Amino acid sequence: MYHELPAGASLWQFLWTIDRELAETAQRSGCSCGGRLHRADFPRKPRGQRDPLPDEYRRRFSFCCDREGCRKRTTPPSVRFLGRKVYLAAVVVLVSAMRQGPSPRRVRELSRLFGADRRTIARWQRFWREQFPPTRFWKVARGRFADAASVTAALPARLLEKFLHGPDPVNDWGRLLRFLSPITLPGALAIKEKP
Ligand SMILES: [Zn+2]
Repeated sequence: MYHELPAGASLWQFLWTIDRELAETAQRSGCSCGGRLHRADFPRKPRGQRDPLPDEYRRRFSFCCDREGCRKRTTPPSVRFLGRKVYLAAVVVLVSAMRQGPSPRRVRELSRLFGADRRTIARWQRFWREQFPPTRFWKVARGRFADAASVTAALPARLLEKFLHGPDPVNDWGRLLRFLSPITLPGALAIKEKP
């Protein structure tokens, strides 16, 4: 059972709104030195969408400490950007999951739509199989599932099934992506992609 993501511009607005909440939370916490955080976003060119995006949607929220001598950067988690080539997190999850189940034709369609080639998808699958399970994030997060071992063995498809079953797919996607968002923190892990 696979629900569609919200389409086109509404997808971006949806993801951006969640990112803004995550960013506001980070900003309220401030810098570890006690300083205040000022916006210092990164420009990004996200893949996984076809239409040109307004600038605001293409920036990854980030902050810099305002204290002289600290100036430390804080980058909150993001449900939009995942990996160095900044694919949409949602697309990485969806396409990887489709790859495990539905027809090759459907997967080809999704790949065409989101601009991910076979090799990229193969890398995403390795990510779910090899890089994701040993992360600290998953070691803790898996505790919320009674059948954690079987979820781990069929990532990310089983994870989608866990979240996407309500009457409101958009809300379900929001919950899934918020749940996964800590893995997008700098250094938490990265999908290794060759340039
Ligand atoms: Zn600071």
